[in-house]
Amino acid sequence: MISYHVHTIVPVTSQPITDAYVSCKNGIIQSISKNKPNGKIVGIDGVLYPGLINAHTHLEFSDLKKPLGVPGTPFTDWIKLVMEYRTSRDQERLHTSITKGLAESESHGVSAIGDISTFEYRDSIVPATAEAVVFRELIGFQAAQADSQMKIAEDHLSEPESNWYRPALSPHAPYSTNKKILDQAIQLSHKRKIPLAMHLAETREELELLASHSGPFFDLLNQIGVWEKNNLTDLTKPLDFLQRLSCASRALVVHGNYLNNKELQFISENRDILHLVFCPRTHAFFQHDRYPLEEILKRDIPIAIGTDSRASNPDLSIWDELQHIASKFPEISPHNILKMGTINSAKALGVDKHFGSIEVGKRAAFFLPPKAKNMLFSGASY
Ligand SMILES: [Zn+2]
Repeated sequence: MISYHVHTIVPVTSQPITDAYVSCKNGIIQSISKNKPNGKIVGIDGVLYPGLINAHTHLEFSDLKKPLGVPGTPFTDWIKLVMEYRTSRDQERLHTSITKGLAESESHGVSAIGDISTFEYRDSIVPATAEAVVFRELIGFQAAQADSQMKIAEDHLSEPESNWYRPALSPHAPYSTNKKILDQAIQLSHKRKIPLAMHLAETREELELLASHSGPFFDLLNQIGVWEKNNLTDLTKPLDFLQRLSCASRALVVHGNYLNNKELQFISENRDILHLVFCPRTHAFFQHDRYPLEEILKRDIPIAIGTDSRASNPDLSIWDELQHIASKFPEISPHNILKMGTINSAKALGVDKHFGSIEVGKRAAFFLPPKAKNMLFSGASY
């Protein structure tokens, strides 16, 4: 047993506690108490938080030193840069990127990650201390691509779970995924009790494609020769996707930058299944309209947080995402902001049994921020 004597413990799911002890054995929290326990004690002069959770990233871009494009790059131009970058790298470079991304996440105090992956890496990466829910990307706008994508999905789900790697699926986005692929992924999610993650309502251009089969996405799909009108005949708005996704076992709705009130209400009513994920600094990079965070919180939607990848963000720090929210939405309480990057994101990924708060029985996974960066969330301002 080892105990930490901490200036302030912020469990997130209960009130902060000062001058207290948290005792751990075999990596599991045994007690949190004001009373001095027996055994070895280590002093911590700071504020102790649960390990942070990154609900959405693409670790394969972790080798990028800076985002692709410049702030405000039109989204479809950025997609072209991503496609170019993807084809420029070999398998070894991809593995290096994943390893780098895991190590960087751990250095930022992240304990669990929702990673969107385009290849299998369970056996080729040195096991990390952070857990990864690995959402295998399923992509292809044409119906003819459905069978090969489902083979990829089945193969991925046959990867055995390990203590750090949990397989899941990601039908990529409305502008890149055939509805056959989406529907079959939803069936698999239901049958196998695994989460899905889908990018949705990320840009105005995506809404334009759905509503009127026009705009930059329509041009891009035509340009690469994959446009199929039938794919979007009964999928004309994000709500149509949300209704389908609500039949999954659990689904992460990634971004949702342009969801309307009706769609947010639908998420609120299905909040046990649908988990909205906000990527604050990526949102800022693309210079989107103000994120509807007030509307979301008004509807009691427990929003989760992701960094997205280094292709649109300078780093993989969830703590910096939370600081960014605090600076843009000063009316939101530090407690609510903290929940986003801890317990809400853990629930979205389905890892809240082990992570997301400091509680007896959970993993001894903690985050101790550097003092200079701790101003907003100290016990006093909680
Ligand atoms: Zn993403």
